[in-house]
Amino acid sequence: MNPKKIKIKAKKSHPIISKRRLIQAIIGGVMFYIIHYFDISLWYVLILGTITGLVFGKVFCRWMCPLGFIMEVFMNMNPEEKFKQTYQYHKLGCPIAWVSGFLNKISIFGINFNQNDCTHCGLCDTACYISTLNKDFSLHKQEKKNPATQLSCSKCLLCVEACPQNSLKYEFRKLKL
Ligand code: SF4
Ligand code: SF4
Repeated sequence: MNPKKIKIKAKKSHPIISKRRLIQAIIGGVMFYIIHYFDISLWYVLILGTITGLVFGKVFCRWMCPLGFIMEVFMNMNPEEKFKQTYQYHKLGCPIAWVSGFLNKISIFGINFNQNDCTHCGLCDTACYISTLNKDFSLHKQEKKNPATQLSCSKCLLCVEACPQNSLKYEFRKLKL
């Protein structure tokens, strides 16, 4: 792309992504209460994680799980190790994390990249713990592996929020495995 044609768009904080922790605390708290009050088997929670994984990708851990919320609070206490711990937690996590992580490759919603507006500023990769820890991954370098389809992508959507050009969007996915 001709550099003269690149325009940097003003970035507004995404209203839903910036409230992810609040949403997770509410959904997680309600779910925890319902599971204990009605003594619901964790198999049903696994089914819920699988269904949400099929539709949205691995959203359960960071948008719905009460344990994930608590783990994230602990991980945030150690900023230097935060990326590493987040990566390990979302890679190994629990059976729901494994199942929904595999579904990141085929889920109906996913992260699409529009290279036309991309200025290759790299802010998306800096926001993502996967591409920060492993240089084989990138959200904007097409020759590298896409972190958003990996098992450990927890759909935090920090990459989407970081992009000043709106080149990354979480929406109906254009299939590219
Ligand atoms: S943050 Fe957006 S503009 Fe910058 S490299 Fe990533 S996709 Fe491209
Ligand atoms: S949603 Fe984006 S920033 Fe978050 S883990 Fe997945 S690729 Fe990385």
